[in-house]
Amino acid sequence: MAEAVTEARRGTEVEERLIGTASGPTGGPILLCVAGIHGNEPAGVHALRRVLAALDGRLDKLEGSIVALAGNLAALEAGRRFVDRDLNRAWTRARLEQLRSNRAAGESVEDHEQVELLDAIEAVLHRAGGPVFALDLHTTSGPGGIFSVFTDSLPHRAFAKELPVPMIFGLEELVDGTLLNLLSENGVVALTVETGQHDEPDAIDRAEAAIWIAIVSSGVLPERSVPEVIAARALLHRDAGHLPRAFEMRHKRDVVDGDGFVMKPGYSNFQPVQAGDLIAEDAEGQVGISEPGRLLMPLYQEQGEDGFFLVREFPAFWMGVSHVMRRAGLSPFAFWLPGVKRVTGSPDEVIVNKRIASFFARQLFHLLGFRQLEDAGSSLVMRRRRFDEGRYLRELPVPTSLETPPGLD
Ligand SMILES: [Zn+2]
Repeated sequence: MAEAVTEARRGTEVEERLIGTASGPTGGPILLCVAGIHGNEPAGVHALRRVLAALDGRLDKLEGSIVALAGNLAALEAGRRFVDRDLNRAWTRARLEQLRSNRAAGESVEDHEQVELLDAIEAVLHRAGGPVFALDLHTTSGPGGIFSVFTDSLPHRAFAKELPVPMIFGLEELVDGTLLNLLSENGVVALTVETGQHDEPDAIDRAEAAIWIAIVSSGVLPERSVPEVIAARALLHRDAGHLPRAFEMRHKRDVVDGDGFVMKPGYSNFQPVQAGDLIAEDAEGQVGISEPGRLLMPLYQEQGEDGFFLVREFPAFWMGVSHVMRRAGLSPFAFWLPGVKRVTGSPDEVIVNKRIASFFARQLFHLLGFRQLEDAGSSLVMRRRRFDEGRYLRELPVPTSLETPPGLD
C-alpha cells in the first residue's frame, strides 16, 4: 500500500510539547493553539513556528498571549495519525480521571501523551485571568478539506465567523471525546480548523493564515499590528470562498476494524453526491449515499474511525434566524413545546418525543442551540449548549479546569 510506505518515512520531529509562547500582560486574552494532535497532520506545527518567529519583533504590542502546543509528539515523529489510539477521542471527564489515577503507569503511548498535553493545557487555563480562545489545527487525508468545526454557541460561532472558510454545524455531535468539545464545555472559545490535505504546502500557509486571523479576533494583538491578516483573509477566501458559508451534518459512516471499508478513489471534500451514488466498498459490498449532499472527509489513510461524512448546505437565512432566537433568549420556551419533557435534575436537558414533536423537533432544537446527546428511536435526548446566551457575547466566559465538572450557569 503506497500510503503506508510514504506515511512511514515522513515524520516530524518536535522536541518539546511547548512549541513556543509569546506573552503579553496578564489578564489579557490567551490564544491556545494545538497542532499535530494527529501525528500525520504536521502542517499546524510548521505554521505555528512561522507565526511565533514573526511575532518576535512586536512582543511589546501584545495585549494578550499566545501559547502553542504540539499534540502527539510520538505520532508526529512516526508520521502516523496515532501510535496506539486516537489522541483526539478520549477527552471525557471520566477518562481524564482514570488517566490521573494510574498517572505514569498509563498503558499506551497516547495515555502518556494525553497526561502531558492535559497538564500543559491546565497550566494555561490556571493562569488565565480572562477569556481563553483555542485553535485546534488539523488537515484531511482527501483534497479540499478547508473548514471549521465548533460547538455552536454564540461566542464560538462569532469566533468561527472571522475565518472565511465553511463552518460545519453538528459535526461535534457525531464525534465523541474530542479536545474541542471538552475545551468548549469548560468555557474556552474553541475552534477546530482543517486547512487542506495532510502534506500539501498550502495547508501550512492556510494554517498560518488561520492563526493570524485568530490572533486578531481573539484580541491578542490589535489588527493594526498584524499586517499579515489582510493576506491571510485573502488566501482563505481564494481557496474556500467558492463554497457555501455553512453546512449542517447529516450522516457519518463509522469504520470499525474488520468491516473492510475502502473509499473508491477520486473523491474530495465538498464534492456533491446524489442518493444512490456508490462511493465505497465494505465487507458487505457497495456503500451507497442515502440522500443528496456533499462529502466531507472521505477516508484516504489507513488509520481513522470515520469513513466519510455527508453534509448539506445550511442556508444563511436559517443561520440568521437561529442567531436572533438565541440572542432573544428563546431557548427556555422550547421546554414548553408539546412532546418535550425536561430531564429531572438536569436543567438544560430535554427528552423529545419524536412522534408528538414530529420531524421539526431536531431542527428546531438545533436552531435554539441544543446539541443531540442520544437518538433512542422514538425519542431524542438533547442538551442546551453552555455559554449560549447573549450575555456571553458581551462578556466572554472565563474557563475552568478541564477536570472539574462544569457548574451550572
Ligand atoms: Zn486531525
